Amino acid sequence: MVKCSVCGREAIYISRGDGRAYCRRHFLRYFDRKVKRVIRRYGMFSKEEQIVVAVSGGKDSLSLLHYLHNLAKKVPKWEVRALLIDEGISGYREVTIKDFERVTSELGVEASIVRFKDEFGYTLDEIIRMGKERGLPYLPCTYCGVLRRYLLNKAARELGGTVLATAHNLDDVIQTFLMNVIRNSWDKVVRLGPVSGVKTHPKFVRRVKPFYEVLEKETTLYAILNGIYPREFVECPYARTNIRWYVRHYLNELEEVNPGIKYSILNSLMTSIDILKKSGIGGEGEVSTCLVCGEPSAHPVCRACTLLYELGIIDVPQSVRRYVDKLTARGRRRLD
Ligand code: SF4
Ligand code: ZN
Repeated sequence: MVKCSVCGREAIYISRGDGRAYCRRHFLRYFDRKVKRVIRRYGMFSKEEQIVVAVSGGKDSLSLLHYLHNLAKKVPKWEVRALLIDEGISGYREVTIKDFERVTSELGVEASIVRFKDEFGYTLDEIIRMGKERGLPYLPCTYCGVLRRYLLNKAARELGGTVLATAHNLDDVIQTFLMNVIRNSWDKVVRLGPVSGVKTHPKFVRRVKPFYEVLEKETTLYAILNGIYPREFVECPYARTNIRWYVRHYLNELEEVNPGIKYSILNSLMTSIDILKKSGIGGEGEVSTCLVCGEPSAHPVCRACTLLYELGIIDVPQSVRRYVDKLTARGRRRLD
């Protein structure tokens, strides 16, 4: 029997990075300290906050909702609510929505669901089909990621959120880091810090990642111990079309033979962000306002409007066509 390094009772978790073992009680304390350290170090929340938690219904986001809901009981001027974006992924999202509804009602947290179908007129499944018919080169996760980020910000703001908390854990963050290194997208690496959107645009809701230093297996255990682990395991049918799926497996194998390597990669990410910021690559410079929809955007027309235009879902005024054309897949190919 492996014993808890703190109290000597039977351990349920071994932190392979530092070799320490924890029983149930001390695992939860270790978890809490880790998250609080990140929240404090990066100044994620002030004393008065309307926290909108982006929840997918998966174990990470349910754990974050549970954690922040409990933390908020000790902070009188914090309010926590849950927001789920229903992209319209048949056979997948309706299953995770059940867990979302179960946990939010058990916790007594106000919950909102915003749907692609209502906002854009089409589900993600339909959008992917339309993209194929039009010969667009994008992968399902591109439509999903761009449109979901867009809606999360808009909905969080409309709900009165002062901060949007997402459940990205250490594994997610280093996967995205490696994917951007593979694609040579250093301007995106610089935006992978634990807090983003500070003073960039009045319509942009600041984003924080309280699980930034927490391993995925730790959020899994937290969910199990708190009885909020999803009842049914479902994987998004598009997950395997994304390079992330392979990077994730590769990193898990690497960690198996080199315990602690995930933390090293996170340290490399932090160093990269520092170096990139000093050399002026990327960063959170001035964000403009999309000339089509009025939402914050890094370009004169935002990525969401550009995609919707390419899909034939919206039209854009003649006066902004030249900006949009440069951003479309066809326009980018012409410039290459
Ligand atoms: Fe969206 Fe891709 Fe994630 Fe599926 S795997 S939910 S398509 S980002
Ligand atoms: Zn727009």
